[in-house]
Amino acid sequence: VELSYGTSQRRRRLKVLINPFGGKGTAANLYKTYAAPIFAAARCQVDVQTTEHRGHAIEIAEQLDLDAYDAIICCSGDGLPYEVFNGLGRRPNGREALAKMPVALLPCGSGNGMTWNCLGTESVSVASLALIKSFRTPLDLVSVTQKNTRTLSFLSQSFGIVADSDLGTDNIRWMGAQRFTYGFLVRLMQRTIYPCDLAIKVEIGDKRVIKDHYRSYVSQEYDPLADPIRVEAASQSPALPELEYGTVEDQVPKDWEVVPGEHMGNFYAGNMAIMSKDTSFFPASLPGDGLMDIVTIDGTVSRTTSIKMMNEIPTGGFFDMADVNIRKAKAFRLVPHEKDGYISIDGEKVPFEAFQCEIHQGLGTTLTK
Ligand code: ADP
Ligand code: MG
Repeated sequence: VELSYGTSQRRRRLKVLINPFGGKGTAANLYKTYAAPIFAAARCQVDVQTTEHRGHAIEIAEQLDLDAYDAIICCSGDGLPYEVFNGLGRRPNGREALAKMPVALLPCGSGNGMTWNCLGTESVSVASLALIKSFRTPLDLVSVTQKNTRTLSFLSQSFGIVADSDLGTDNIRWMGAQRFTYGFLVRLMQRTIYPCDLAIKVEIGDKRVIKDHYRSYVSQEYDPLADPIRVEAASQSPALPELEYGTVEDQVPKDWEVVPGEHMGNFYAGNMAIMSKDTSFFPASLPGDGLMDIVTIDGTVSRTTSIKMMNEIPTGGFFDMADVNIRKAKAFRLVPHEKDGYISIDGEKVPFEAFQCEIHQGLGTTLTK
């Protein structure tokens, strides 16, 4: 695989996908007003396509001529990049496609986590400018198995109050990103519990060691050409990587930590720090360290503590709170006890049934400033 690292590339050839349904439904206008003029000034070659239905971006990414483009730019929320990664992963040469084609997000949805993390903004024009000057960066992807299916996730997996607030508020899309906060507060007042079985393949379970891991990682000079993952990628099997821990249908491996889940309030696993504006929910997460950060919070903590947690997120005190459990992990399995509810993968609804996740270091590629 030809990989271009180090310098930012001139005259990029961009495949732009617009989700007319994302956010408040204004993606086409945002793109035309704030992004297109910047791409034109940078002499990018742009090919714009509007998605026509749910899952359309999977089909587009599965069939796209990868030699004809330098990046896929989604004008949407996190839902479209999720589809694009899955489309690339479905190709017979999934690994190579994911290593070759960067996927980026122009923030036009209600949840724009990817842009916050990679480009540091929620302004479409600032993000466009950052994109034309951006660098290719490897991104961990997570395999999610449910029954006999396997999908890829790039951002988050949630069960409990966050999944409920994300997915149970589709009827109030007009609120934009406020619907998540509103949904969260309404549920908090009811102090809901989401019982489940949970087992985690923990790599680092101690908050102090997590901080050390983070510090030593970010202080390293990043040398993409020396990146071991990248060299490996092309020489391995062309399809997706083997599942090291099997699927949700296999036995839970013996060395996984069993976490009590009868009173689960919030199960949230993340691969990037920021989930939405001012919400660095996973402050120690690193998008390329081959580990996911898992936050669990008991549903029986008092409302006062819950409100305090919310308030501590923007100020950075959240991580150290005693009721906030954080583990860095390679895999986990979650089995809901109840019949109905929500499981969210990258903000998208998936069937409410047992799921297992395992992370693959640097399987995907994105663009960062
Ligand atoms: P938001 O952040 O507002 O949820 P997203 O871009 O994440 O916005 O997308 C929400 C959903 O819209 C995704 O599930 C995606 O599959 C779906 N979608 C994409 N194109 C269309 C379309 N033309 N009509 C309806 N839904 C679509
Ligand atoms: Mg990571």
